[in-house]
Amino acid sequence: MNPDSVLAGNQKSEKQHRREICCAGRWMYEREFIVACEGNVSVRLGDGRILATPTCMNKGLLEPADLVVLDPEGRQIEGSRRVSSEVLMHLLFYRMRPDVHAVCHAHPVTSTGFAAAGRALDEALLPEVVIGLGKVPLVRYATPGTPELSAALEPYVEHYDALLLANHGVVTCGPDLLTAFYRMETVEHTAKITLAAENAGTPKLFSSKEVAKLMAARVRYGVIAPPGGSAELPVTSDDEDNVADEITLRRDELDALIEEAVRKDRARR
Ligand SMILES: [Zn+2]
Repeated sequence: MNPDSVLAGNQKSEKQHRREICCAGRWMYEREFIVACEGNVSVRLGDGRILATPTCMNKGLLEPADLVVLDPEGRQIEGSRRVSSEVLMHLLFYRMRPDVHAVCHAHPVTSTGFAAAGRALDEALLPEVVIGLGKVPLVRYATPGTPELSAALEPYVEHYDALLLANHGVVTCGPDLLTAFYRMETVEHTAKITLAAENAGTPKLFSSKEVAKLMAARVRYGVIAPPGGSAELPVTSDDEDNVADEITLRRDELDALIEEAVRKDRARR
């Protein structure tokens, strides 16, 4: 992909988009974001048609002619191969986000590990991530390629550009394919750094004040936040201070405390 790749879907020819989707597939395969026939990539063309990767093929080895074309409603109108059922997820982004012209879905090892462990990437740990993505929430599990998964995703789509899918993988979107791909890379990199920080010691999160400064810096970096706005902010060190006031009790400890309180109360009467 060349620097022209940041142009929106409607500013390039279909031929160019076909080449770029194959390139994104190759990059995802080389970086082990996908293996075998996993993952899928799509681009919304200028006329609203959607160019997407086919099912049952290694996305690292695609040729431009392997791609399929769908109408805006998701009906396949071109291509001898069959589109993946996971394209439903892509259609949801295109339907809800007029600003989105490309969607990437993959199963990168570390971030999918977080998703499989039920963990979001929602800590205020790295400036670029806070500025670029805010946070990466975890969407509850639903069977891949079903309307249930789309329903689980729906509340998040307008507010975030990258999402973890519980026990499944990652989906990212962007105004162009290069941006959507970079967001996928950023999510995986963030997951790796988070683990490295946890291995090295206790990750030191930003305060909410620092997060506010980073959010204000978005304009300077030309970051356009998702149109839904009011996304939840990442977890900060202030939240941790609040957590420090919480206590955890075992059931028997709680029972003992209640018993003690009742005994004291009876003794007072
Ligand atoms: Zn998948």
